[in-house]
Amino acid sequence: MSDKETTLDFDTDWSYSPAPQSSTEVKLRDRYNLFIGGKYQPSQTKDYLEIINPATEEKLSEVPQAGAADIQSAVEAAREAYTHTWSPMPAADRGKLIFRIARMIQERAREIAVIETMDGGKPIRESRDVDVPLAAAHFFYYAGWADKLDYAFPGRSAQPIGVAAQIIPWNFPLLMAAWKLAPALAAGNTLVLKPAETTPLTAMVLAEIVREAGIPPGVVNIVTGGGETGQILVRHPDVDKIAFTGSTAVGKEIMRTLAGSTKRYTLELGGKAANIIFADAALDQAVEGIIDSIFFNQGHVCCAGSRLFVQESVYAEVIKKLQERMEMLIVGNPLDKNTDIGAINSREQLERIQAFVEIGKQEGGEVYQSKCNLPDNGFWHAPTLFSNVSQSHRVVQEEIFGPVLAVQTFRTVDEVIEKANNTPYGLSGGVWTDKGAKIFKVTREIRAGVIWANTFNKFDPTSPFGGYKESGMGREGGVEGLMPYVRLDG
Ligand code: NAP
Ligand code: MG
Repeated sequence: MSDKETTLDFDTDWSYSPAPQSSTEVKLRDRYNLFIGGKYQPSQTKDYLEIINPATEEKLSEVPQAGAADIQSAVEAAREAYTHTWSPMPAADRGKLIFRIARMIQERAREIAVIETMDGGKPIRESRDVDVPLAAAHFFYYAGWADKLDYAFPGRSAQPIGVAAQIIPWNFPLLMAAWKLAPALAAGNTLVLKPAETTPLTAMVLAEIVREAGIPPGVVNIVTGGGETGQILVRHPDVDKIAFTGSTAVGKEIMRTLAGSTKRYTLELGGKAANIIFADAALDQAVEGIIDSIFFNQGHVCCAGSRLFVQESVYAEVIKKLQERMEMLIVGNPLDKNTDIGAINSREQLERIQAFVEIGKQEGGEVYQSKCNLPDNGFWHAPTLFSNVSQSHRVVQEEIFGPVLAVQTFRTVDEVIEKANNTPYGLSGGVWTDKGAKIFKVTREIRAGVIWANTFNKFDPTSPFGGYKESGMGREGGVEGLMPYVRLDG
């Protein structure tokens, strides 16, 4: 056998032929309305937001920009349904209706995945394999709790709270809606949901599902609009609880607004997760996990592993493997089933990421970017790696929310724990090592809500998720995720 046959030829073009997911069966309306009291209603403001596909910049649809009068009718509808329909309904019946939502998401899975990808820019592989199945799984899981609350809180009587205002971001639009709706509904609350202004379309599908599933009018209300719409909702006096997922800055503003009120709130905010590779780790597996942790969903992930700490003795090897792997990532058409990295969600977010990369360079960071061809239209950012940075650099300290990884080194376990904890955030983290003792030490001493060991970005509805420090308060998922939606008597 000649050498040629036994070694891989890296000069060969290994690119895949296009494999686009068809979007022809997806029928988007030219314009959507607010979903209030079980009916589709135009906004009283008569203002509309254009919804564009970030991969092509083409207009997909438009949605109303809800104002104070719309929020008033949504909260009134939710209150009415809470008092007269949903909270008095036998819990087993509530459960059946929530199960129906889960099944209908599964039935329409392909269509929803395509819409999520067109609206938000994420690869179809991800919306198909992560967002949609996990959203259905959350409804299945919490549907099961509806008539078992006495087991969730033994010896206590769990009562619903009332009307919840739920505000979500653009990175996992349907999944974040599921995280919010499912536990609230299972516990007997009614709600008003506001999706992010750039990604409201799967929430519009969810409105159709809620209606067709037979959820009584007013139990779920969906209002679209920008930050101002969210602000009006938070301030509404007849809202009992706020559930917010988004940036730390807006989370703090909500806390200030609510100071002195009796409203309950939970906040899922930003992150700057540390991923730690020890020299004894399975390096190829670790590199694959690092790539997934920061480049998955274009880095638009609150728990993204945006800070990487590599033990000094394997630093050069890990950087080389990372760069090689970055060159193989396929950036482009999100509807293509081979695509690894899709479009950045909006021009605004792209400019924010670009500004951070400039800051990183000015601060003396050494930058490496994949040599990929970015499409001409749409919003795109190449996978980017910063080395030669330290704890005080802004690309190490601040949340970028894009495909940008900052790499540092360490020598000892204690040193890396101290460095990893040196951030105002505490949402997630990752550790890669062959030694169980190191896993236990690191996971115990890093202050973060979730820490994965030898894996990353694994989610399950049975497992609680949430932050320490400025990453927020309260938990979503698991039995813990029911807590914010119940009043415990007895
Ligand atoms: P954002 O600007 O805070 O927006 C989040 C949501 O709040 C959107 O629906 C937004 O409307 C609305 N909003 C904006 N200003 C508001 C205000 N003053 N009062 C009430 N609502 C307001 O966050 P983003 O940029 O969309 O999302 C990215 C952030 O979310 C990142 O920081 C990320 O870490 C965080 N995140 C956290 C988690 C978690 O579980 N911890 C999960 C996902 C994302 P508009 O759409 O009009 O801005
Ligand atoms: Mg959009």
